[in-house]
Amino acid sequence: MVIDSFAPAPLLEIAPSDIGLGVFAREPIVEGHTICVLRGPLLNLQEVRAKGAAAGNVLQVGTNRYLDLEPPGRYLNHACVPNAGLRDDTRLVALSHIPADTEIRFDYSTTIGDGWTMPCACGAVGCRGKIAAFQCLPAELRQRYLTWDIVQRFLWQELGA
Ligand SMILES: [Zn+2]
Repeated sequence: MVIDSFAPAPLLEIAPSDIGLGVFAREPIVEGHTICVLRGPLLNLQEVRAKGAAAGNVLQVGTNRYLDLEPPGRYLNHACVPNAGLRDDTRLVALSHIPADTEIRFDYSTTIGDGWTMPCACGAVGCRGKIAAFQCLPAELRQRYLTWDIVQRFLWQELGA
């Protein structure tokens, strides 16, 4: 099921990054502003598993609810020190001023509730070396992300937050 079609915002461009393709701001973005809303067909876990290797392009938005991300969302890379975050499950917001020609990245751990892990080479000072579930983040960082309201809502429920 396609929830909505996606019209790319003019200020974003998909371009080569140091870890494959990424999403770049081509205009400065003000802290707190919405960068884009992530969209795509809604899948259940069984459908995600059936995708095999392509399952890396999905975003969990609820219990047994996943979006098969369309561009630009599917090209958003992870960062352990992100400049963007997901609010209300699908709305990408700037966590700081983002200068033009900067890659936009969010912390995948704010969207992961299961045992899925992946090695991280985001290059940040303070890179955790591994992308893992929200529950695996240091308590202080979990609290910061919750305060910033950039944690998927199904994870709040799992945390009893
Ligand atoms: Zn990292």
